[in-house]
Amino acid sequence: MALFSGMDKFGLKDIKGDEVFGDQEKKKAADAETAAAKKAAGELDYLIDRTYSCPVCDQEFKSRTVKSRSIKLVGTDEDLRPKYQQLDSLKYDVVVCPHCGYAALARTFKNIYDSQKKLVRETISRDFHYTEPPAVYSYDDAIERYQIAFANAMAIKQVDSEKAYLCLRMGWTIRGKMETLDPSSPTYEADRKQCIEDENEALKLAMDGFIAARTREQPPFAGMDQSTLDYLISVLSVRFGRTDVASKLISSLISNMTTNPRIKERARDLKDRIVAGQK
Ligand SMILES: [Zn+2]
Repeated sequence: MALFSGMDKFGLKDIKGDEVFGDQEKKKAADAETAAAKKAAGELDYLIDRTYSCPVCDQEFKSRTVKSRSIKLVGTDEDLRPKYQQLDSLKYDVVVCPHCGYAALARTFKNIYDSQKKLVRETISRDFHYTEPPAVYSYDDAIERYQIAFANAMAIKQVDSEKAYLCLRMGWTIRGKMETLDPSSPTYEADRKQCIEDENEALKLAMDGFIAARTREQPPFAGMDQSTLDYLISVLSVRFGRTDVASKLISSLISNMTTNPRIKERARDLKDRIVAGQK
């Protein structure tokens, strides 16, 4: 699969799908670069370098983090992807130790057993090399960080829910990249097509992983309650044509007294969309 190819530049092996569950133009380009540089300078105001102590190699390093109190949520996509006014915080979710290659979402970075540390040292650290990107991460920088985190999740045999959650956030990050592609670029159509393919690949993995987690794990699932997980499986199932799976989960979400009201309302909207699609 293309999503996790080209990992050799970090000294990591590519990940295969079955392992988972698993002149005018120049001026235009210069203008676009200036605009991008201005936007990046603005983004920098909302970032801070946080010091981490790596639980695998015990070395300290700095990782760029969003000052979460200074950014404003302006909405969420149907699949709960958060969107902020000032920047795309998804780009800064993954923490990578530049010394040993251990990487995970900031939320789970400290949560690693001794037996798993050994697996990181044996499978990730040996050939790992990585240079922290300059101040503001591009989408490609961010996507690479998700690839490294996913390689770690595979190496330490992370639970399905956490692997699926990484794929979900990676898919959302690819969507962010697609939304910021420059339509005047000569490679726009090809880049857009690639983004759509990659996002679908990531979200399909997320769906499969969440379905597996639902039968094998207990809540919370990667920090999410049962109704949020069921809603996510439903949205992703509709996306990939599995309306049978979605309809069953949505009915139970809507009728269940314990479903949180926010999710219940979204489940009703999704049900309306399925019904409209069947007509
Ligand atoms: Zn380390």
